[in-house]
Amino acid sequence: MTDPVSVLHSTFGFPAFRGVQESVVSRVLAGERTLAVMPTGAGKSLCYQLPAVMLEGTCVVVSPLIALMHDQLRAAEAVGIRAATLTSVDENRAETRGRFLDGELDLLYVAPERASGSDFRDLLERGKLSLFAIDEAHCVSEWGHDFRPDYRLLRPLLDRFPDVPRLALTATADTHTRADILDQLGIPKDGLIVAGFDRPNIRYAISAKDNTTRQIADLIAEQPGPGIVYAQTRAATEKLAEALAKTGRPTRAYHAGLEPPIRAKNQADFVASEDMVIVATVAFGMGIDKPDVRFVAHAGLPKSIEAYYQETGRAGRDGDPAVAHLFWGAEDFAKARQRMNEVETARQPGERARLSALGALVETAGCRRKLLLAHFGDDAPDNCGNCDNCLNPPAATDATTVAQKFLSAVFRTGQSFGVGYIESILTGQSSERSLMNGHEALSVFGIVDGAEEAALIKPVARALLLKDALRANDFGGLEFGPAAKALLKGEAELSLIVPPKRERRRRGSAGG
Ligand code: ADP
Ligand code: ZN
Repeated sequence: MTDPVSVLHSTFGFPAFRGVQESVVSRVLAGERTLAVMPTGAGKSLCYQLPAVMLEGTCVVVSPLIALMHDQLRAAEAVGIRAATLTSVDENRAETRGRFLDGELDLLYVAPERASGSDFRDLLERGKLSLFAIDEAHCVSEWGHDFRPDYRLLRPLLDRFPDVPRLALTATADTHTRADILDQLGIPKDGLIVAGFDRPNIRYAISAKDNTTRQIADLIAEQPGPGIVYAQTRAATEKLAEALAKTGRPTRAYHAGLEPPIRAKNQADFVASEDMVIVATVAFGMGIDKPDVRFVAHAGLPKSIEAYYQETGRAGRDGDPAVAHLFWGAEDFAKARQRMNEVETARQPGERARLSALGALVETAGCRRKLLLAHFGDDAPDNCGNCDNCLNPPAATDATTVAQKFLSAVFRTGQSFGVGYIESILTGQSSERSLMNGHEALSVFGIVDGAEEAALIKPVARALLLKDALRANDFGGLEFGPAAKALLKGEAELSLIVPPKRERRRRGSAGG
């Protein structure tokens, strides 16, 4: 057959390869095993579709979601590729098997549970294969954020056809997960190809929650274009959408619990709009092609840095300036730690690493971009000039004394009261409750003096929760975590990052 570039022109209608596509395609055409890590939108599908068109035989594509498979099938057929899906909802399965055996398919999409079955293996043995493409390959790793046991069963199938090249693809894998994917799928270390992850036009900013609705309303007032706000629950998306509608911007909610026609309409309205704000759960955004999203806000901690990178990556695909602003609270970390205890033991180290990476990201006084890129194994300069910390370097304050006072107060009051109560004890505010509890007689009552120290109490509480020096029980009562002792004994210090004061914009703000 002809060369890849002419197929790129004739079949796909693209003038040139993008980024690492060319190196991935040439490895595949040379029959080598490859793992391609490419951010969303970088053009992963082409990396197997083009070889599938050029090589003799069928490329088997393993993909985890039936809906996604059907989208890809339509896209492939639209450019004239001979493709089919083999899933439980396809009624033409017998016909598809026939087309495969007759050598009439370039692409055959299957789910991992079907691919690993013996029926499927028998079918493949009777036809001709050109390539195995394993999409969303991070699902094979317990280190990944989306482990699917079915992916583990693929290896025997792949090994049954040792001469058929394999191409694993993912958008979201940190360095640890990548090594695991290589190992699990039998791909050599030098088969790893990673696309540049930097999105220089996105300005990253991260703030502690104060009044999230007001903070996001301020952001909206500064950002005229379309924006996505991620909230953590269905109820939260609706509540926040209602509050943000008061900014005067058209606002919609989006979550899986909406009636399908309403959901589809909200999505279509957003895609068509030039100024709409959509408040959504993380389900929103997969497969949506809207290049002019000007901001992505997170009203709460994302699941992982990978998830954060993928979600913020939906901003500024057109290359124009865009903003990604994350608002986090200490309770986000406390909840995540609680959830961690509920997952299987084997997966806990991965979950713990994910949470501490997020902790490092929100806490750093250094460049956010550098930290993000380092997470994906990319080098970056120390100062990107386009994140909150690089634009307005924060000051670090030693808050060890306030932290010790806070921990003592928690201890003296019996490790069962919340942040607000502890604050009132430390600042010596007399109340019926503190009188009744006899807490006004404690040495810690009123031990914090001066407005400067008092202003540190809440940020200190947040930092202590984040560092697992404190844990909150189901009722918000604080108790000691494993990191408390070292601080109390003076063996550890607590340094707080104090964001530079900035003027609050009040234009068109909602609530306050
Ligand atoms: P990913 O799966 O990596 O998120 P896709 O494979 O869906 O990305 O591709 C993203 C978009 O980029 C698609 O619209 C695709 O048609 C387009 N695309 C892919 N490769 C090229 C290329 N070489 N030149 C121009 N557009 C491309
Ligand atoms: Zn920076």
